[in-house]
Amino acid sequence: MQLTFQDRTALVTGAGRGIGKAIAETLAAAGVNVICVSKSEQSCGAVAEGIRSGGGRASARAVDVADGAAVAEAAAELLSEHERIDILVNNAGITRDGLMLRMSDADWHDVIKTNLSSCFFWIKGVSRPMTRKRWGRIVNISSVVGLMGNPGQINYSASKAGILGLTKSLAKELASRSVTCNAVAPGFIETDMTASLDEEVSREIASRIPLKRLGTAKEVANLTAYLCSEEAGYVTGQVFTVDGGLVM
Ligand code: NAP
Repeated sequence: MQLTFQDRTALVTGAGRGIGKAIAETLAAAGVNVICVSKSEQSCGAVAEGIRSGGGRASARAVDVADGAAVAEAAAELLSEHERIDILVNNAGITRDGLMLRMSDADWHDVIKTNLSSCFFWIKGVSRPMTRKRWGRIVNISSVVGLMGNPGQINYSASKAGILGLTKSLAKELASRSVTCNAVAPGFIETDMTASLDEEVSREIASRIPLKRLGTAKEVANLTAYLCSEEAGYVTGQVFTVDGGLVM
């Protein structure tokens, strides 16, 4: 099935690397105009440049998604530049792992702000025109650890579980305006975030995954692109795992 997009504009956070880059490139390849957001100008700029040099439509904007005022300002400017943003993919995320007793307040708050509050900031910033136009797609990138928990990641798993509650509640709030809101929960995916795992740990993780390997960013992007497409108009409030069968 060929996914269709009727002259849509998407904003993808964390588009400078990994899963966000793959989502931006997949949407752009399907004809979507993509605004790539990341923390550093260099990373989102390079991804947008790569899309443009391949014939796609993309621009870049460096925004710290954990900073509510910065997101509000950027969202207002981007909406006036682009008229509307039809698709929002909240993908930016960080880890600051450590066991609970040793976790600092800063590590707790940084992860909650970057992974969870950022979703609220962007949704608040860009969703009004979606509701007016009676069309919108919001996809929040969670994680299987938001469903299962993981020792050493109480901050990260709380942020990712929080995304699920936000997604389901928002889906109910916006359904009457034909704006859908879904969550994608990746398992272990090969990106910079998992690159620090040593080979032994990586092998041990793969042995616990029914499909016996880590996933690719493109595999997460494919499902995300579907949820952003015209075809997914009757799918909302759902959580989709892309995890090789880890959570069943
Ligand atoms: P990644 O390779 O580490 O890339 C993270 C991206 O987020 C980068 O582009 C980074 O910007 C951006 N970012 C981080 N903090 C930001 C901030 N404060 N403001 C703006 N942008 C910020 O991560 P990934 O592995 O692709 O993960 C993407 C998402 O999937 C995350 O939400 C992650 O929690 C989730 N996830 C990943 C896995 C996995 O196994 N990899 C599994 C489950 C869920 P810069 O490029 O400027 O640094």
